[in-house]
Amino acid sequence: MPKQVVVVGAGQGGLSAAIHARLLGHDVLVLERQDQIGGKAQAIETHGYSLDPGPSIIILPRLYEAVFRHANRKMEDYLHFQRLDPFTRVYFEGSEPFDLPDGEAGCLEVLRQVAPQDVGSIQKLLATLDRVSGLIDRTIFDRPFDKPWQLAHPDLTRFALSFDVRASFRELVDRWFQSPVLRAFFYGFPSYSGQSYRAKSPSGLLIPYYMIREGVWYPLGGVRVIPQAFARLAVELGVEFRTGAAVVGFESRNGRIDAVRLQNGERIECDAVISNQDRVTTRRMLGEKLSPPPSYSYFTVHWGIRRRLPGLSHHTLLVPRDYEKGFEALYDHRVFPDPPIVYLNATHEVDPSVAPDGCSNLFAVVTCPAIEDHLDWNTEAAKGRDRVLASLRSFGWELDPGEIDFERIQTPLLFESRDGSYRGSLYGPDEKFRLWGGILPLSVRDPEYPNLTYAGGSVQPGSGLPMTTLSGKFAAEALR
Ligand SMILES: Cc1cc2nc3c(=O)[nH]c(=O)nc-3n(C[C@H](O)[C@H](O)[C@H](O)COP(=O)(O)OP(=O)(O)OC[C@H]3O[C@@H](n4cnc5c(N)ncnc54)[C@H](O)[C@@H]3O)c2cc1C
Repeated sequence: MPKQVVVVGAGQGGLSAAIHARLLGHDVLVLERQDQIGGKAQAIETHGYSLDPGPSIIILPRLYEAVFRHANRKMEDYLHFQRLDPFTRVYFEGSEPFDLPDGEAGCLEVLRQVAPQDVGSIQKLLATLDRVSGLIDRTIFDRPFDKPWQLAHPDLTRFALSFDVRASFRELVDRWFQSPVLRAFFYGFPSYSGQSYRAKSPSGLLIPYYMIREGVWYPLGGVRVIPQAFARLAVELGVEFRTGAAVVGFESRNGRIDAVRLQNGERIECDAVISNQDRVTTRRMLGEKLSPPPSYSYFTVHWGIRRRLPGLSHHTLLVPRDYEKGFEALYDHRVFPDPPIVYLNATHEVDPSVAPDGCSNLFAVVTCPAIEDHLDWNTEAAKGRDRVLASLRSFGWELDPGEIDFERIQTPLLFESRDGSYRGSLYGPDEKFRLWGGILPLSVRDPEYPNLTYAGGSVQPGSGLPMTTLSGKFAAEALR
């Protein structure tokens, strides 16, 4: 029996949820409070530049492809991906920059030059992950896990036993790698799933593994074309969209959500709701007095610069010699890393249409704490910008204010106020407040209402465009 399903939010998780709910035979209405879809992956046009102000490292295109296939469509009719080679340029303070080429063989060749002592360890690590990556496809990428007995799944157990589960991520990395370059490269990855390197979880190894094995990609037209393609598919399937429609409350009867209330006073009846708004934010709207500490977030500065900056690749990593201090600031003290590892994205390097002729579209990203009681992001923003500029300067790029067409800063305050992300965190609550001591993000199912589920970065399988795409599928399938 088709149901009227309301999806709250048109971020990547909400768009995927809408498609999957429609494919299950429901009537679907997406309510998005902004005037455009895409959430953190939305498009921004300014001063003749096309910005992707959120995601830029695009991995696992096969997970998007599966959605189009499920809808009996071909992804290539909607989206085209270009594989990046090199996938990253690395500047390590005091050393010559080097490029990491696409694929294992090229990477090993480069590591023989820059970190010869660690080549054997990298090979062993890739071989171990080759053996267990199928287990991830069959478990974490396949369905949500929220019952304690599901943890005893033989595939999950085999994954955990492939590593020393008593060791923290940092201890594992330090055991394998001696070179500062590889340690600095790996230390950052747990934060991309909302964990610190103190977590006893090897899952932070998966992103670099997929980058090396399955490539890093650029969607032609910019990252924004991914949510746009999903929205196009949803409309073709009969999903309805309303933008400028902010949901401010939920109504329930007999233990089920039966309506949502909009800011303009409108009441929309429904049989089920998928919330793409952060799970804690939604639970608080339902009256629960939750206030767990948040996980991590991003600080970004975007510049349009009236000259082509030399020495950049599509992705460039600036690593200070004192990188350990920066990670301790982030993971142990929850303050802005000083010195920060700065990730630079320069899309004009592969797609000249995103900047006026001869100009640079430069996006600097630093992993940072979310909204913490001890931080005032209104003052942190200026400090963060100065640290990013200092980092650029130390690697030889001096930006002259006279050549800057625009500057755009994002802090966790924006992700909270614009996207509804709890305390501006991209990953929901801090690891200790997630499932089973942080092994997994929160469940896609609401603990109280069987017809309310969640999609997006705050729930399983996690944040990032591929994971939120999967969360949308899980959320649609979990509706009761
Ligand atoms: C700087 C930055 C860099 C990143 N880099 C990468 C990367 O390289 N690779 C990668 O894969 N991922 C990256 N990410 C993460 C990725 O952007 C997110 O995980 C993903 O886009 C989040 O999708 P989501 O489904 O959680 O929804 P969000 O993007 O959070 O969108 C939620 C939507 O819901 C709407 N909404 C919220 N509340 C309401 C309400 N009450 N009523 C109506 N609408 C509402 C919001 O307006 C918004 O449109 C990055 C993110 C940032 C910010």
